[in-house]
Amino acid sequence: MIQLKGIAAAGGISIGPAYKLGSEEFIVLREAISWDDIPVQIQLFEEALIKTRREIIELQKRISLDMGQEEAQIFDAHLLVLEDRMLIEEVISRLKKEQLNVAYIFSEVLKKYISVFLKIEDEYLKERIADINDVGKRILRNLLGKEKKGLGEIKEKAIIVAHDLSPSDTVAMHTKNVAAFVTDIGGKTSHTAIMAKSLEIPAVVGLEIVTSKVNPGDVLIVDGTSGVVIINPDEETLNNYRQKLENLKGIAEKFLSVKDLAAVTTDGREVMINANIEFPDEVPSVKLHGSQGIGLYRTEFFYMNRKDSPTEEEHYQAYKYVAEEMNPHPVIIRTLDIGGDKFLSQFRIPHEMQPFLGWRAIRFCLARPDIFKLQLRAILRASVHGNLKLMYPMISGVEELKQANLLLAEAKEELRKKGMPFNDQIEVGVMIEVPSAAVTSDILAKEADFFSIGTNDLIQYSLAVDRSNEKVAYLYEPAHPAVLRLVKNIIDAAHQAKIKVAMCGEMAGDPSLALILLGLGLDEFSMPPQVIPELKYIIRAMGYKEAQELASQAMKLSTGTEVEKFAQASLAQIIK
Ligand code: PEP
Ligand code: MG
Repeated sequence: MIQLKGIAAAGGISIGPAYKLGSEEFIVLREAISWDDIPVQIQLFEEALIKTRREIIELQKRISLDMGQEEAQIFDAHLLVLEDRMLIEEVISRLKKEQLNVAYIFSEVLKKYISVFLKIEDEYLKERIADINDVGKRILRNLLGKEKKGLGEIKEKAIIVAHDLSPSDTVAMHTKNVAAFVTDIGGKTSHTAIMAKSLEIPAVVGLEIVTSKVNPGDVLIVDGTSGVVIINPDEETLNNYRQKLENLKGIAEKFLSVKDLAAVTTDGREVMINANIEFPDEVPSVKLHGSQGIGLYRTEFFYMNRKDSPTEEEHYQAYKYVAEEMNPHPVIIRTLDIGGDKFLSQFRIPHEMQPFLGWRAIRFCLARPDIFKLQLRAILRASVHGNLKLMYPMISGVEELKQANLLLAEAKEELRKKGMPFNDQIEVGVMIEVPSAAVTSDILAKEADFFSIGTNDLIQYSLAVDRSNEKVAYLYEPAHPAVLRLVKNIIDAAHQAKIKVAMCGEMAGDPSLALILLGLGLDEFSMPPQVIPELKYIIRAMGYKEAQELASQAMKLSTGTEVEKFAQASLAQIIK
């Protein structure tokens, strides 16, 4: 039995056989061919390209039906690789020159391409490596006449073990027998982690060595809540986890029983429990889990895995759909937040030494009013179809907020001139996720309609801990007294100015810290949809006075560990 600890990316426990993805290394033999064989080899190559193209288009169609067009667009980049003239011509010219079998030549050209791309310091090109790898393997498989060994082959509920997951693998898990997945690399905010939460598949990432420790068919326990992975557990451990799983099912049912009720304390304080989404097609899950609205719609995912940028009309249609589906519940659309760990291939953001401190989010948008206003117009146009609000990410001070609002006023004027309707009174909120904004939240509160605390970033900036670096993950403490003090300061400043304050970072969905946040006076909590029933249950089980008392005790503690222990013990008392 081996136990590994990684980064908990998506909650839940799964037990099952391991399925190693990417373990299908191809052995490509080097064979001499005669001059006369060359046309046959070229024909083989062309047939493999055509077959691969057909497979990708088929996959794209299926994904489009199952998950929507946006996810299907991932494969446009794959189709482009297939049409890469340079790659095709290099294979053919080397084939003629070296007189070796085409599978061997192709695998050599592929390796060369990947090693060249690996050396280039450009995030856009780095992203392309996964695409080239993915398509290259498909072509090779077709050249060698092998059947695809992929997710489709999984007969029983299996646990995927991979070094990393390509976007197409992750998306394809949607309808497959995937019980959980574990990877060597990746952080909490990697594309893989975000997708896992959307798909509700337990996942642990950043395990560093899991692929070297697991053999196909090993039994794995994946605890996506604690980040623990156990390889070939002994009978006792297996029984413990089976018991835990049973308990979890019972607990989940208990939580689900209150999902459609209000999040109101026993002494009558009501708070809002909202959902975070990345894609419009998450709306059914949002409703299913009893959300009272959408507290964070991360719009940058709309730009990902596509060659072009969405048009104003595309933005509008997506926002209109979400607004109508959720109406009369509120939907808070966050304007584009790129940079940091989120790169979009459309905008070639230069390589930066410290991307999280660099040209990111509102800074990028203020420098590119063309892109920013296009999105603002779309949000404004969609605002007549429901209860839409908007908020800006990464505001560091009031000047930035005023500049953003000036562009919003321009966007409104542009729509007025065109006679297009919009809600002129749309509420405009500010994300508080930079320490300077947290400290000056009293100033910002005078200019904002509401606050939403982005703790994922606020924690990384205030504790100086890169949120996506597994090496310093132990320092990333939501319960750190510095974080609690900043949060308290923000809530107090908002209430002083009579505006509401929400939290949409992952901390809002942490069951034990929720008690403290409730006690500090937080008005709205926004989180991944699956966590909502549990949070409602907890809030309904306690008194507001009690929570205030807990919060004031927690504020007197000296370390994150102490706060964490105290919060967990308090929670255990409440939901005995
Ligand atoms: C945050 O920073 O807490 C947040 C909600 O935004 P994101 O995770 O998208 O940076
Ligand atoms: Mg953020």
